[in-house]
Amino acid sequence: MLILVVNAGSSSLKYQLIDMDGEKVIAKGNCDRIGIDGHISHKTADGRTLDQDCAFPTHTEAFEKLVETLTTGDAAVIKDMSEISAVGHRIVQGAEVFSQTTLVTDEVIDKIDELADLAPVHNHAHALALRACKKVFAADVPQAVVFDTAFHQTIPPKAYMYGIPYEDYEKYHVRKYGFHGTSHRFVSAALAQAMGKDIKDIKIVSCHLGNGSSITAVEGGKSIDTSMGFTPLDGIIMGTRSGSIDASAVTFLAKKHNMTPDDMSNYLNKKSGFLGVSEVSSDNREIYTAIHEGNEKAQLTADMLRYEIKKFIGSYAAIMNGLDAVIFTGGIGENSWEVREGVCSNMDFMGIKIDTELNKTVRGELKKISTPDSKAEVWVVPTNEELLIARDTLALISK
Ligand code: ADP
Repeated sequence: MLILVVNAGSSSLKYQLIDMDGEKVIAKGNCDRIGIDGHISHKTADGRTLDQDCAFPTHTEAFEKLVETLTTGDAAVIKDMSEISAVGHRIVQGAEVFSQTTLVTDEVIDKIDELADLAPVHNHAHALALRACKKVFAADVPQAVVFDTAFHQTIPPKAYMYGIPYEDYEKYHVRKYGFHGTSHRFVSAALAQAMGKDIKDIKIVSCHLGNGSSITAVEGGKSIDTSMGFTPLDGIIMGTRSGSIDASAVTFLAKKHNMTPDDMSNYLNKKSGFLGVSEVSSDNREIYTAIHEGNEKAQLTADMLRYEIKKFIGSYAAIMNGLDAVIFTGGIGENSWEVREGVCSNMDFMGIKIDTELNKTVRGELKKISTPDSKAEVWVVPTNEELLIARDTLALISK
């Protein structure tokens, strides 16, 4: 059975066609520059590619081109779009409305669109893509929506509320939502399986470290706290996002720089983080290249990242009253031995000890990197959000 997984933004539509018999990706690509001009880059599992400029005035033309590419020409992988059994969509913000994967109806799309107030960059684009997809695919092809926030809906009020007047939670829904839920859910389940344990019996700190990063306390398979908040800006320092900052520093800077709320949002989301502090790059690899050249601001950036991750692991072990395993995932977590070593050094007081030589050799593979006498295990677990979206979609349509 084939499932198409779609991750749509305002100007792009990333996709993977997954064969659920064996969970293999048979083609993937990106329809880019929607609403600007348009380009598709497409690759099949057996190495055939297509790179083509095309007109994508809206998401509808992008979906039409995607179907055409999958079914005709040199990089086709299926004969007819009827071979696609269902479509699964990644949605950023489900707020308190969606706590699980849901079948798409017109009402669901409208609700996702209404939540655009809470995720202006993403949700409206998701709604546009969902409507376009419904137009292009036959009405009997089921579609499911999988929310980044859904896994975190188990976080209790004492953890998701901010210390602001309660009426702003009621009126404007300002609270912690958390993101990367699909990734934290996927890697937690994969870890439990690798450890040979029932997820209900273990306490995990899951560190998803990429361009955007978040850390989640997963107790008994449920998210009980996470580092991102009302938006993906909160938590640890990221590629271009500041992470947590005293709100008074924000109002102070807004006055000093004479910034509008949008200017400030741009400053904190696009100009801060590794890029802002290091003045070198938003990319972890380039930070380490600069460190090896003796750049002190790059060193400071790397030190801040490790320190902040360490603090979250400690505080989450405290709220769970224990820790069985730490997960490293995402581009940095899966690949950067330096970050993993920096985070896990001097943590033996709380039972974390890694095999530093082994750690240096692990990249992008499922592997335990803690020593046999480490009380809490430390694992590198590659994430696969698309696969979880496909699995969820399959489970929903099989019901
Ligand atoms: P996104 O959040 O956009 O999905 P990724 O999960 O792909 O991002 O992570 C991107 C980050 O991973 C970048 O900072 C990049 O430098 C880092 N990264 C990727 N490969 C490596 C590597 N081999 N060594 C160190 N860092 C890496």
